[in-house]
Amino acid sequence: MIYSEFKNQKLSKLGFGCMRFALDPKTGEIDQDKVNAMFDIAIAEGVNYFDTAYPYLGGKSEIAMAEALSRYPRDSYYIADKFPGHSLTAPIDNIALFHVSLRKCRTDYFDFYLLHNITEWSLKYYESEEYHIIPDLLQMKKEGKIKSLGFSCHGGPQLLEDFLTRHEGVFDFVQIQLNYLDWTLQDAKRKYDIIVSHGLGVWVMEPCRGGKLAVLPEEESAKLKAIHQAAGGDDPMPSDASYAFRFLQSLPGVKMILSGMNEVFQVEDNIRTFREEWPLTDQERETLMEIAEHLKKGVPCTACRYCCDGCPAGLDIPELLRCYNDYKFAQTMTPSMRIDALEEDKRPAACVGCGQCSHACPQHIDVPSAMAELAEMYEKGPHWSDQVRMRSQSIHEDLRK
Ligand code: SF4
Ligand code: SF4
Repeated sequence: MIYSEFKNQKLSKLGFGCMRFALDPKTGEIDQDKVNAMFDIAIAEGVNYFDTAYPYLGGKSEIAMAEALSRYPRDSYYIADKFPGHSLTAPIDNIALFHVSLRKCRTDYFDFYLLHNITEWSLKYYESEEYHIIPDLLQMKKEGKIKSLGFSCHGGPQLLEDFLTRHEGVFDFVQIQLNYLDWTLQDAKRKYDIIVSHGLGVWVMEPCRGGKLAVLPEEESAKLKAIHQAAGGDDPMPSDASYAFRFLQSLPGVKMILSGMNEVFQVEDNIRTFREEWPLTDQERETLMEIAEHLKKGVPCTACRYCCDGCPAGLDIPELLRCYNDYKFAQTMTPSMRIDALEEDKRPAACVGCGQCSHACPQHIDVPSAMAELAEMYEKGPHWSDQVRMRSQSIHEDLRK
């Protein structure tokens, strides 16, 4: 296993993400025997970092993770958990909720604790004096119940930069969605550079983009196979996922790569990839970037902003086009979170279709059509604001127990 040094700790570079445990098909509950078996293999091979979050699997991930880890000494592994400030609609007793998570995880401290999901939507809650989240968590850190404090972030690079600048010295690490596709699609390179420039550790989520980079289209996978065979590589061919992980291993600021494993074969394959340093060759890296370009859908906006000044609706066109590209790649919640955070008159439906932007655009993008399509995709949902209402209810129920 390869390890990262972080604040005098030796962290396995592969972290076990506990977001997608396998469910028993008969009961619909988490298959605890399978979780235990996967943890046993991972721990035997040197994995020592386990990442959960209060809302994962309807609140049951914390419990299943703790059950599997309870068979090992507490000082032989690191636990990361997250505070669900992104799911609140009113202030709560933050410290009581923190203790709910401690109880569920059967521990009296978290090695790593994160503000879950800083975005354009959640920022106002996380920074609200009334919600008092950051001061309460700093108090928990002072009391030794949190060893390292960080946050996960699905927001844009500017939000990340501004948030880190306003809270310089508060956080120890930042978790972002990073993979060779989002390196350009979600501007993850810029986010990576920002985190490193603030002297913090980069934690990676979605290394395989929800599985999309783990099983590539045949013609893309064939390119990697050809390189492997030309170099006289062994059989069987390394998995597509292994290339995604090796891309991340080669970034020096990356301290932790989380993989949400729910099958034994995934654990075994990942362990093979992380057994020792396995840098990409230049040719492999170039091929991955080429594959990323082929996988992308949507419009080639470079965020030059030439179109913005003349927009009569005052829309942040490149930001909306980034949401558009995200939707076109996969129907996830991330673009909805960003659009939900905008005032009604700054959402794509506010586009009046004047076409000024297309005339100004050096890439000749048909922006009005993209805006109309984006408005439609956004309207269809799912909407982050609806999720928040449901999640907030269950937090209040947990606190009443
Ligand atoms: S077409 Fe829409 S986005 Fe483009 S300038 Fe006009 S209002 Fe703004
Ligand atoms: S001018 Fe074109 S490329 Fe530049 S930000 Fe606007 S849409 Fe994107």
